Amino acid sequence: MKSALFCLLGLMASAALAPALVATAPASLPNIIFILSDDVGYGDLGCYGAQKVKTPHLDRLAREGLRFTDAHSTASVCTPTRFAFMTGRYGWRQRGTGIAAGNATLLFPPGTPTTPSLLQQAGYRTGIVGKWHLGVGATEVDFNAEIKPGPLEVGFGYAFIIPATGDRVPCVFIENHRVVGLDPADPILVSYGKPVGNEPTGLTHPERLIIKADRQHSQAIVNGVSRIGYMTGGTAALWKDEDIADTLTRKAVAFLENQKTGQPFFLYLAPHDIHEPMVPHPRFRGTSGCGWRGDVIHQLDWTIGEVLGTLDRLGLARNTLVIFSSDNGGAIKNTYDDGTNHLHALQPPNGALRGFKSSLYEGGHRVPFLARWPARIPAGGTSDALIGLVDLPRTFAAIVGQPIPAGALPDSVDVSSAVLGVKGAKGRDQLVLQNNGQQPLALRFGSWKLIQKASGAAELYDLATDPSEVKNLAAAQPERVKELAARLAAEQSPPKS
Ligand code: CA
Repeated sequence: MKSALFCLLGLMASAALAPALVATAPASLPNIIFILSDDVGYGDLGCYGAQKVKTPHLDRLAREGLRFTDAHSTASVCTPTRFAFMTGRYGWRQRGTGIAAGNATLLFPPGTPTTPSLLQQAGYRTGIVGKWHLGVGATEVDFNAEIKPGPLEVGFGYAFIIPATGDRVPCVFIENHRVVGLDPADPILVSYGKPVGNEPTGLTHPERLIIKADRQHSQAIVNGVSRIGYMTGGTAALWKDEDIADTLTRKAVAFLENQKTGQPFFLYLAPHDIHEPMVPHPRFRGTSGCGWRGDVIHQLDWTIGEVLGTLDRLGLARNTLVIFSSDNGGAIKNTYDDGTNHLHALQPPNGALRGFKSSLYEGGHRVPFLARWPARIPAGGTSDALIGLVDLPRTFAAIVGQPIPAGALPDSVDVSSAVLGVKGAKGRDQLVLQNNGQQPLALRFGSWKLIQKASGAAELYDLATDPSEVKNLAAAQPERVKELAARLAAEQSPPKS
């Protein structure tokens, strides 16, 4: 009886506390949705000049919001960009933030101030749906047990993730702390070393593949697609590649529908599209005329349409800040050959920019960036402000008025004026760009760009007159090379914590 009374008192206390916590967030705070697509290039959307593929929903976002022409993923591959977005810290400052394996451990510890943890402190309901690629677990993870620490330990209240990438094992979703649909009688074993189980691989059984793959991607076969890494077991939990976009979209829509009146939300939606393997749902196949690469752009655009439609249906559009971007530039590669690769070139991923994903040229890291918030951002504008995805944590914190602990988000700059479309807002002065590891790096300063080559040589470009980086001015302007090199060295030393 006594314990029941305590229980009742406890319930009353939490019922009294819950609205008080929520009430700390003023009703005027915007909801925030950050959609980080994968490997979408600067020239892949209609609103950025794509001719053949059609992206009506993304074009709508541009029409109703602000389109940026000088936004950068900060890295030209997935993991360091996502690390920078989460922590406000350049990936190259920390070893081990290169492209993460499917069994990598969490790349930053719980307690690190992150984009979602700051928003959570500001009273937001937070969730991630989609590709994580920042590691899970503190030691080598057992995918059959409770999987943590992960997104829930670094600021998200809800998580439905692809742990690494579509081309890496394990090919399963994790919801909060558990693999979705796992049969305990059929445990998952993952290896990035020796093969596990007796399953055929892409190398031993190429006749089982629905798409051909290069050697690196020729290990475990899942759904007729060979991957990086080996796995066995977990058969009931395996995703179907052509259904990934539908699944993630359904989870994102459910998160939005779970909206509680008075509490703002933050959704980090990280689609698998358009990363390899590109396996569009049959309803999108052949729709672009540009092969499966173009078809998955159509699939991505459909996802955006579902999200925007949900906001409309729920009456949330006006006070929701929606940002769309990409984690690195676009690529046309021969990793996989789905039989339509000869058509991929009909859609130039990066428009007139030089280079592709994994490059320090603009095609590697200049990305689409669209921001819509009908209540605050004037519709239909274009901004040439220099911004990086590393700036989003500090920018979101500024927009919602959340204080930032001393020393946190060391490389993040508040570019909220630019994102909100304030006239004349210039964004940041300089930005460090990286590929996959610690070196080499590039530096943007004003319209100038210095690229350090692995050989130690440097290239210098003036993007104001030469956006395609055709004319290397390093030999002609040694003083400017020296100045930018000194600026880059100053960024690197002393290292920020
Ligand atoms: Ca990527």
